[in-house]
Amino acid sequence: MKHKPKLGQNFLVDDHARHAIVDALGDLSQRTVLEIGPGHGAITDILATRCHRLIALELDSSLAAELRFRFREQPHVEIHEGDVLKADLRALIPAGETADVVGNLPYYITSDILLRLFAAGSAGALTRGVLMMQREVADRVAAAPGVRDYGLLSATAQMNAQVDNLFTLPPSAFSPPPEVYSTVLRLHFAPRFVELGVDVAGFDLFLKRCFAQKRKTLHNNLRAAGYTPEQLAAAWPTEMPSQARAESLGLEPMAALYRWLAQPQI
Ligand code: SAM
Repeated sequence: MKHKPKLGQNFLVDDHARHAIVDALGDLSQRTVLEIGPGHGAITDILATRCHRLIALELDSSLAAELRFRFREQPHVEIHEGDVLKADLRALIPAGETADVVGNLPYYITSDILLRLFAAGSAGALTRGVLMMQREVADRVAAAPGVRDYGLLSATAQMNAQVDNLFTLPPSAFSPPPEVYSTVLRLHFAPRFVELGVDVAGFDLFLKRCFAQKRKTLHNNLRAAGYTPEQLAAAWPTEMPSQARAESLGLEPMAALYRWLAQPQI
């Protein structure tokens, strides 16, 4: 198979894995599915037989043309040529519907794609996702607070979705084989902003500030972001150690701190 390494083209050739990815979404007969980066159609072919409507978005024009030809007599399959980082994902999904999202993601832009999916999930456009990514990135997405891999990506992901680690594949499952192992995650988009009493834009920015420098304490990261010692002293929960690092805290205490700091100072 011809491939373009710059577009992260490592095509899935493990038959069991491509079925397992689709199986992880259960009954799709009434569902709209958005597929990111269908490539030569390893997953697309199975999705097309199972879902109500399939919307696939591929950047490579020759691959998009190949798939458009293959599915020309299947009106429930739409092949769009475009960049997942630029496309209006919500506009691809018919108004009033929510979609599930599937993809063996191009690894060079995985984090950026996830952020776009979380935004679409927050807007109510996505219900579930089954996504393959480099194992190290998946470990960060799924990590619990206090473990080595926990960081900004974990906190952001877990504000937006429940994450299950499904399985990991070796490089030999792909052609050409990538240099890394790959992990499939299942996401249930379930934004926690309302439950935790925080606004999306403000709390996203706050998390970035909290995790700005891994070696610094949370207190020092927030000082560097412009909060005064007095503001921090007034807002700091008594049960939170003064030397705490953002990496060790769950989302509830982070949200509590944000809410306190967002209150007008008297
Ligand atoms: N789904 C296929 C499979 O499993 O064999 C291909 C997966 S391959 C890892 C990633 C696919 O994403 C490629 O087809 C690549 O052309 C496409 N791609 C890369 N960058 C993209 C982008 N910005 N927007 C949409 N698709 C992209």
